[in-house]
Amino acid sequence: MRHKIEELRDKLNLYNYKYYVEAQPAVSDYEYDMMLKELQQLEAQHPEFFDPNSPTQRVGSDLQNTFTSVEHRYPMLSLSNTYSLEELADFVGRIEREEGPTEFVCELKFDGTAISIIYENGRLARAVTRGDGTRGDDVTANIRTIRSVPLVLRGEDVPAYVEMRGEVIMPHASFQRLNAEREEAGEAPFANPRNAAAGTIKLQNSAEVARRQLDCFLYYMVGDQLPCENHWDNLQTARRWGVKISDRMVRCHSWEEIEEFITRTDKERAELPYDTDGAVIKVNDYATQRRLGATAKAPRWAVAYKFKAEQALSRLLSVDFQVGRTGAITPVANLSPVQLAGTVVKRASLHNADQIALLDVRLGDMVYVEKGGEIIPKITGVELSERGEDSKPFEYITSCPVCGTPLVRIEGEAKHYCPNVEGCDPQIVGRIIHFLSRKAMNIEGIGDETAELLYRSGLVGSVADLYELRPQQIASLPRMGLKSAENIMRQLEASREVPFARVLFALGIRFVGETTAKYLAHHFRSMDALMAADKEQLAEADEVGEKIAESILEFFADERNRVIINKLREVGLCFEEQDRATYSNLLEGKSIVISGSFVRHSRDELKNLIELHGGKNLAAVSGTTDFLLAGDKIGPAKLQKANKLGVRIISEEEFEAMIEGAGSEIGESRPEVGAIRQEEKKEAPEEKIPVQGALF
Ligand code: NAD
Repeated sequence: MRHKIEELRDKLNLYNYKYYVEAQPAVSDYEYDMMLKELQQLEAQHPEFFDPNSPTQRVGSDLQNTFTSVEHRYPMLSLSNTYSLEELADFVGRIEREEGPTEFVCELKFDGTAISIIYENGRLARAVTRGDGTRGDDVTANIRTIRSVPLVLRGEDVPAYVEMRGEVIMPHASFQRLNAEREEAGEAPFANPRNAAAGTIKLQNSAEVARRQLDCFLYYMVGDQLPCENHWDNLQTARRWGVKISDRMVRCHSWEEIEEFITRTDKERAELPYDTDGAVIKVNDYATQRRLGATAKAPRWAVAYKFKAEQALSRLLSVDFQVGRTGAITPVANLSPVQLAGTVVKRASLHNADQIALLDVRLGDMVYVEKGGEIIPKITGVELSERGEDSKPFEYITSCPVCGTPLVRIEGEAKHYCPNVEGCDPQIVGRIIHFLSRKAMNIEGIGDETAELLYRSGLVGSVADLYELRPQQIASLPRMGLKSAENIMRQLEASREVPFARVLFALGIRFVGETTAKYLAHHFRSMDALMAADKEQLAEADEVGEKIAESILEFFADERNRVIINKLREVGLCFEEQDRATYSNLLEGKSIVISGSFVRHSRDELKNLIELHGGKNLAAVSGTTDFLLAGDKIGPAKLQKANKLGVRIISEEEFEAMIEGAGSEIGESRPEVGAIRQEEKKEAPEEKIPVQGALF
């Protein structure tokens, strides 16, 4: 039995590390929770094997040595959880038996990463992760970038010292944008918004954190001079101080009301612009909380009811290996078709070799498939009871499935790469497709299939050859006529006007996504200056770290790339940053979503105008959207979402008025920045005073 207990502890410790430190979970939460429960039961049956360091006794730690660790004045614990309504009813019944009629507060369980934000004399002094519950990492600079976190609390009754605890989350819109950018730049996407939020909060570069647009809900107040004697009233007070408190919390006085909240939340959560993985049920009154106390890991007066992610079980038929334009290999599972969350799933992502090994996925296995905040489902586990006796561990490929070149693995990276940059067809075609794509040179007339045909027919070997094409050559391709050939010629001609930043992005330099290309263009202003820069000079540009700098150097050091660049220069592509004539900062810090069709501008023109005036154009409406710029035939989903989130809807005329300086609210500063505290409050007390026994 000792062996079994130790095996479970080892596995859970490894999963904890992957989850909290690397932000790359190896198994599904459900599987993790079931394993933890099994360990808890075994430890209860065998107290002789008790170990204070067991994962059942300790909060999973996110501490990293790249941050200063800070001691929590009040412990920051986890929550006990259950997936069973009966167990939840038992929890409620037990408390009511012990304490008599009890008021509970039911809240959403936000699926992000826990944070404690400390306000001293009303000002944000520090923000610390949960860490190991006793000490956490100081991530103040990163938390300050979250626009919904007030830097100054407003109100006469703000105590000298107060901690607001809550959850940093990544809304779906931010998550989808971030993963799209990462894939485009050849980086591994985040598994889900929770991991993306946890990973982002631990970045060293706060500008990048700001760009990723996190959000934060606060759900608990800690301190020894709190305004009220119960949880609900304190949160309402915090809302008045300017803190972002969810309006989806209710007070319940019976099991029926709690159950109703859970059923409703489970139904409505699909509509929310962020992930929730359950509901949290807390005793409201502090005196009762104190009486109930806590274990080493979690309070006894609160519990999380977790929703089980919708899962399907399906057979793994085969694995395809896709080769991307950067040579990155992505394994994709082919499954026997199965219904999941309203769609038929046939393919699922497997990410990389490590993920396959961790899950020990084998051909022929029955595997669990889940859908998270992303579009492509993923495999989260294996049903071992269904595994055949002759099954063998999966052997990852060692050579490129297309060109046969032995694969390489760059240290610190999860993916394997095919190094045959110049000779591996999908890489060459991928680069051509990328060059032509909408955000790059925007040559719509040549679709993916035509690009492949151009390559296979020998007409285009590299992106530079595109500009040597003659209309007759294009017209000779299957499904192409002279008319479409002329259209393509016109688009190629027009692409000479594409700004430098997009040309740079179109080159497909590894790790240089759309945004990095903009920063590089802005910083170096010309291709020549960029090509002449050394590593230190490259790293001076915003968002460029060592990895990106090295990739740029490597790209320009390659003679073949220099030849292509020279040809592109000769055909007259824009190699210099043009100064923008009109620009203002009237829209600075504003996120604007465009929907519908417009009378006076095309959507691209509007997008451009937003950027010219310092604003950000986002694809999807979320809690951080400031305006929805609505034209005719606006998407009903966007409209509904904007109304629900209270996002202001503006017309084309109103938008024009804004950029002419007529919209007064545009220039408004964040209220908390402008607010000034009326008086200095007395010094925060130094000694540690335990409140409520145990806290999140
Ligand atoms: P948890 O996420 O299950 O619950 C506690 C946390 O919920 C709190 O710390 C807080 O951050 C959060 N929370 C969200 N909304 C809240 C609210 N309204 N009130 C209070 N708290 C709220 O616990 P945890 O300790 O952060 O993580 C443990 C869980 O993480 C495990 O049960 C498991 O599901 C998952 N996990 C998974 C893996 C894996 O490999 N898949 C590994 C480790 C942990």
